[in-house]
Amino acid sequence: MNDKAGVFTISLDTELAWGMFDKSNIDKYEHAYRNTPEVINRLCELFDEYEIPATWAVVSHLLEDCDGDHSDRMSPDLKWVDDWFGKLPCASGMDEDLWYAPWLIDRIQDCETEQEIGLHGSTHMQLGASSCSRQHAEEEIRIGVETLRAHGVEAKTFVFPRNDIGHVDVLREHKIKTFRGSDDRWYEQAPVPSTVKAPLRFADEATRRAPPVVEPIERNGVIEIPGSQVFRPSYGGWQYTPGESSVLRAIKGLQCVAQTGGIFHLWFHPFNLGHNPDQELGKLERVLKVASKLVKEDKIVSLNNNMIREKCGSI
Ligand SMILES: [Zn+2]
Ligand SMILES: [Zn+2]
Repeated sequence: MNDKAGVFTISLDTELAWGMFDKSNIDKYEHAYRNTPEVINRLCELFDEYEIPATWAVVSHLLEDCDGDHSDRMSPDLKWVDDWFGKLPCASGMDEDLWYAPWLIDRIQDCETEQEIGLHGSTHMQLGASSCSRQHAEEEIRIGVETLRAHGVEAKTFVFPRNDIGHVDVLREHKIKTFRGSDDRWYEQAPVPSTVKAPLRFADEATRRAPPVVEPIERNGVIEIPGSQVFRPSYGGWQYTPGESSVLRAIKGLQCVAQTGGIFHLWFHPFNLGHNPDQELGKLERVLKVASKLVKEDKIVSLNNNMIREKCGSI
């Protein structure tokens, strides 16, 4: 392996309805959620075909059947939802197929390539929100770590729900060693309102701007790997960006790290590909094909997030 080779890494926010239940727009995504088991299966097949190790950050409650009783837990006082634990998908009568996926770990672990299972919270609580106390974060992370452990997985990587970073020290206490940082673009890293972010994100796609090359950074004893690019689907407004901008941008990201070293960190939610699985998986396959070719030419390596942390050595 060429030690100076650029790195391609993928992280996947794996959540089904846990990602949106508090925003009351499940109906908008239901079709995509129902296609997500198929998408996950086909992603596993693609990662094996092109020998891509990825990091799957899962909401751990996906693994647990539940009668909806969370009366032992205290809801954070979030602005947009009154009673967090009363509103959970398991507590609100939602169809189980939208929030329960007991097959998930086995399917990912059946891959021949080294897939990493990390954590995306136990209930997708937004840990960086001002009313989310350390105690809320401690419970949310501890329960997630324990649930994964009960399924034979030691979580080493965390993805903050909505990339809202907070209470990083709690990760370290629970032996989580890596987390995904915000994308390395000034408007993703600053407290900029979403009305400002949206057109800037759109402009990056519209101009097919090369995504940033990132490097790991140590934060409170945990390694942050910033994001480079969200693999945007062709809906939700993104269908209006010219051509297949997400594919072209990702290929630029791969070519950049092949030339300069550093990390190209692509991420998305499996359900993002669920609105039109054939089309979206076909687009991703074009990216993986280029990645696989560059790996064979010894110009890049393909690593999951934890493998990057192991390569950094210190933590
Ligand atoms: Zn529950
Ligand atoms: Zn999420």
